[in-house]
Amino acid sequence: MKFTVTILGSGAATPTLERYPTSQFINCNERCILIDCGEGSQIQMRKYKLKFQKIKVILISHLHGDHYFGLAGLLSSFILLGRTSKLKIICPVGLKEIILKQIEIGNAQIPFEIEFDEILLTEKALVFEDKVLEIYAFPLNHRIPTHGFEIREKAKDRNLIPEKLEEYAISVKEIGEIKSGKPLIRKGKVIPENEYSKAPAPPLSYVFCSDNRIQSKQVGDMKDASLLYHEATFTDKDKSRAKSTFHSTAKEVGECLHQSGIENILLGHFSARYKDTTTHQSECQEYIKNVFCVTDGATYEISQNGVEMIG
Ligand SMILES: [Zn+2]
Repeated sequence: MKFTVTILGSGAATPTLERYPTSQFINCNERCILIDCGEGSQIQMRKYKLKFQKIKVILISHLHGDHYFGLAGLLSSFILLGRTSKLKIICPVGLKEIILKQIEIGNAQIPFEIEFDEILLTEKALVFEDKVLEIYAFPLNHRIPTHGFEIREKAKDRNLIPEKLEEYAISVKEIGEIKSGKPLIRKGKVIPENEYSKAPAPPLSYVFCSDNRIQSKQVGDMKDASLLYHEATFTDKDKSRAKSTFHSTAKEVGECLHQSGIENILLGHFSARYKDTTTHQSECQEYIKNVFCVTDGATYEISQNGVEMIG
């Protein structure tokens, strides 16, 4: 099972030579998902050798340009490269019209199916699922309608204990029945499932919180994350600017999530006014065990052992 997050853009607002605008490439068990698509995201995917033709779902958090201005360009490349597989785009209301108009004016034909799912949520909801994962969206506190996303592995089956298969003479048919939730019965008695199977590892989850002013009432939507990304556009010295622009400081993120149980945080969307992120790191690290201030091109692996930067 592979679960990785690659940062394509870690800066706020305008692109710089060091930081592209927001975009992340997620590989969850070979399901490839793009979150946000700032200007130049496709160039970053080429640079970091990510197979962007494998993207199945694109999630767009909100319609500030630094989060989606790369999308028309990416779709245009899909057209030129002859993509045929279906693409799902989960996005704010209005994006479909913007994107289709851009493509139409260029007189291009889209040779593959795009399913736009425009959302405007007031509470967390399931927006996509397949055999291996589920995607949830939830509202965030920003200047325009904005959503965060959670990508969660589907719960796995319990693991049967091989020696118990023999002991209880469990047939192939019964294995199928057990997996679909039916109890095992011997001599008229239900055998407790811990006798012949072990609980699977808990599902891993990645939560992405785009631009927003963090609030304690939203912690419930984030707290189950094995790894949480949260914007930290500013540091504490610029907290009045964070407040007026509906962004967060690194300290506010730490303080708000201190008691949440979250142990692993990525911070990003850094304002170009900061030369480095050591202050962001120290402000948040006071409250959270593992804080990573992201850079473009960095890859993080989520596993049962925790989170590790692998590239
Ligand atoms: Zn924004």
